[in-house]
Amino acid sequence: MKRPGKRTLMQVFRKERTKMKPYAFGIDLGGTTVKCGFFKNDGSLIEKWEIPPIKDNGGVQILPDIAAAIKGKLSERDVSPEDVEGVGIGVPGPVLANGVVNGCVNLGWGVFNVAEELSGLLGGIPVVAANDANVAALGEQWKGGGEGNQNVVMVTLGTGVGGGIIVGGRILAGGHGAAGEIGHIQMRKDETAVCGCGKKGCLEQYASATGIVRMAHLALKEERKLPSLLDGKEITSKEIFDAAKAGDDAALGLVDTLGEMLGTALAHITAVVDPDVIVIGGGVSKAGQILIDAITKHYRTAAFHACRDTEFKLAVLGNDAGMYGAVRTILNR
Ligand code: ZN
Repeated sequence: MKRPGKRTLMQVFRKERTKMKPYAFGIDLGGTTVKCGFFKNDGSLIEKWEIPPIKDNGGVQILPDIAAAIKGKLSERDVSPEDVEGVGIGVPGPVLANGVVNGCVNLGWGVFNVAEELSGLLGGIPVVAANDANVAALGEQWKGGGEGNQNVVMVTLGTGVGGGIIVGGRILAGGHGAAGEIGHIQMRKDETAVCGCGKKGCLEQYASATGIVRMAHLALKEERKLPSLLDGKEITSKEIFDAAKAGDDAALGLVDTLGEMLGTALAHITAVVDPDVIVIGGGVSKAGQILIDAITKHYRTAAFHACRDTEFKLAVLGNDAGMYGAVRTILNR
């Protein structure tokens, strides 16, 4: 090793620190699949693959399996661990900025430091852990619908309503790892049905794929004019949006209700966060412009005047958003 000579140790440290290693991994850990991405340090994807999360015995095997997948890829590609800047991992539960996950119901996990544990399994390669919805938001801010903007709110409309808030190009994790839990903003105090979180009247009870179907069944009970597609069969959110696009009055009403709930909630959020752009993703966002129109109609009337014209965009990275966001957390340190 060369001796530092007249340079101070701090100068040497800074020089070493600014030289980023050539490779990194982005891992999106979900309840049904683990998406793994091997990246160059400029964020370009070299290869992606998936492994299943084994959830038996409280999910004890999940991190060792991920570590094995990473080590396997390194030896397959003849890359030294010394050349890996680090691993970013998105986890389906609240995660504090220091890497401590506060329980993942889907995986059977309790409270522990997921970043420290995975780093230990990888022989000390640095690991950053964050909430999965937050890393998806970071991915869309970096290389998706929010690209070119530093302040982004992302809403993911799937089975539930997920969310992530990016401020100054960084994830807002919050004091309890729960920042961006947009789906559990209380929208109605008179709701009698219980949300998955145990509260009543949460946004995702109305504005998710399951929420709009639930609203359709309620409309059926109230014997209002019904979409023809409700004729005695199971319906999906896609069918409701398709019927709305075809001009069905009742389906248009359901889409409008979803737009009102989301538009109002997002107006509340922008009054606090004031993002440059709001990105809408998840399976329901495949409905496209009719969804954006339904949300913005109500958003523009509910929003504070200074952020009334905030731009809405559809997400573009799909299921890869979490992987991109995860690797960004490590490249962004
Ligand atoms: Zn809830």
